[in-house]
Amino acid sequence: MVGLESKSASSNNFIKTIVAEDLAAGRVTEVVTRFPPEPNGYLHIGHAKSICLNFELADEFKGRTNLRFDDTNPVKEDVEYVESIKRDVQWLGFEWDGLFFASDYFGQMYDKALLLIRKGLAYVDDQSVDQIRENRGTLTEPGVESPYRNRSVEENLDLFERMRKGEFANGEKVLRAKIDMASPNVNLRDPVIYRIVHAHHHNTGDAWCIYPMYAFAHPLEDAIEGVTHSICTLEFEDQRPFYDWVVEHCETEAKPRQYEFNRLNLTNTVMSKRKLKQLVDEKVVDGWDDPRMPTISGLRRKGYTPEAIRAFCREIGVAKSYGVVDERMLEHFIREDLKLKAPRTMAVLRPLKVVITNYPEGETEWLEAENNSENEEMGTRRIPFSREIYIEQDDFMEVPPPKYFRLFPGNEVRLKHAYFIKCEEVVKNDAGEVVELRCTYDPETKSGSGFSGRKVKGTIHWVEASQAVPATFRLYEPLIRDEDEGEDSSFLERINPNSLETLEGFVEPGMKDAAGQDKFQFFRHGYFNVDPKDSAPGRPVFNRIVSLKSSFEVGKA
Ligand code: ATP
Ligand code: MG
Repeated sequence: MVGLESKSASSNNFIKTIVAEDLAAGRVTEVVTRFPPEPNGYLHIGHAKSICLNFELADEFKGRTNLRFDDTNPVKEDVEYVESIKRDVQWLGFEWDGLFFASDYFGQMYDKALLLIRKGLAYVDDQSVDQIRENRGTLTEPGVESPYRNRSVEENLDLFERMRKGEFANGEKVLRAKIDMASPNVNLRDPVIYRIVHAHHHNTGDAWCIYPMYAFAHPLEDAIEGVTHSICTLEFEDQRPFYDWVVEHCETEAKPRQYEFNRLNLTNTVMSKRKLKQLVDEKVVDGWDDPRMPTISGLRRKGYTPEAIRAFCREIGVAKSYGVVDERMLEHFIREDLKLKAPRTMAVLRPLKVVITNYPEGETEWLEAENNSENEEMGTRRIPFSREIYIEQDDFMEVPPPKYFRLFPGNEVRLKHAYFIKCEEVVKNDAGEVVELRCTYDPETKSGSGFSGRKVKGTIHWVEASQAVPATFRLYEPLIRDEDEGEDSSFLERINPNSLETLEGFVEPGMKDAAGQDKFQFFRHGYFNVDPKDSAPGRPVFNRIVSLKSSFEVGKA
């Protein structure tokens, strides 16, 4: 393919510069990255950015990338999510080196916690979560030390052991790192590193009732796997000093380092697993893979290709500043990818019957049509033409406005790949609605015949009626618009009621056997994907991926 894969991986990427320097300086001998999703939902397009970044960075320097499930929170996680994440990473075109679960390291993490206690760097606190939060201080005020902060090592070892054995209820005690309650960085004010959660874990079952906190677990996971460059989003920047503290004081052999980049935000797109899960749970959408969802599985079902998503991620690049990317840029890349790949066929989404009165009854001719006018290699197909065809309802107007060049009484248009037809008569039902047009055609004007007698201004598409394949078309609009978005939970109340429009129409007979995930460009309507779930043999359902044109140009956003 031209264009899409040509840009070198991660070319506009400050992290790449760091990696190259680290290799040159000998700080690392092999680059090891990881993609660390928490299995508490399906992956979305924001995760794709992180996946591409981690895998392509390691690829470029012949290093390794692990897929690691950050499953340290037993309550929200599920194997369904684990399986969907694996599938999505593979579908995007990446192969992990190691597949790990953070929960496999619970034993090692526990040992590191014991080490901190023995070094006088961790203590068991009996304060409640609320008390701890209250005593944390503010950006301008130092925190207040816990009355339990100076427990002896022996007492801490005993209490932590009993926490582990299950002697205490949820929230009764926590283990905290002992750092500095007056630190200007609030994250260093004795952060909680272990808490009690009596819950079944999808991987470790009931083996544990204490679980490490993310900020403590993550650097250890990285160190255990020998990750050299631990790449995360900017909100973790303030956590970096604690990350380094853990690596230093837990005396890990490997010394991973954390680097932060800007997360992807898209216009008109909700990008948070928590909110996406709400949409699924409250049945606003038809599951995680609803084509209106910005999940990888939703984009796949809508018809996006891995190539388009990867090219998009490359184009947006990696930076250190907050920004919102225009969703039309993502659309640009699927158009680019499908432009030369997708067959261009005709579909009528809102049918209006046309009878060609001077065409012989009972006769059918087969017209030659090119499959892709920009890619000759895709060859041609034959489509039937006869006395009855369907056209789009809005390609006819009884009283046309100025500059309307399609059908109206007395006007002539070109039928794509076929003949000129002229509207002679309008048939209406009792309600006064137009139900049929009666037209004549001019046999001299056959497409490709070199006819040059006269010109018409409009070209419309059509499908021959007797062999047309009935099809369902789904057109999408954003589920929640930007002006409706906010951090409040009421975003659910402000859903776009028109996010899905379903139409019943027809496609060419050759598309009878279109199978799930086949992609087409329908003349004038845009790119469509055959829905893999709802299509039946001979009865396809098409999801519109994107319309044909956009005012958006990459680089001019
Ligand atoms: P969400 O906020 O949507 O729940 P998360 O960050 O909690 O996402 P994780 O499973 O923890 O989800 O994320 C796995 C990796 O993906 C992390 O390294 C995270 O930084 C990255 N990531 C998540 N969202 C984005 C985004 N919008 N842009 C870039 N990277 C992201
Ligand atoms: Mg998270």
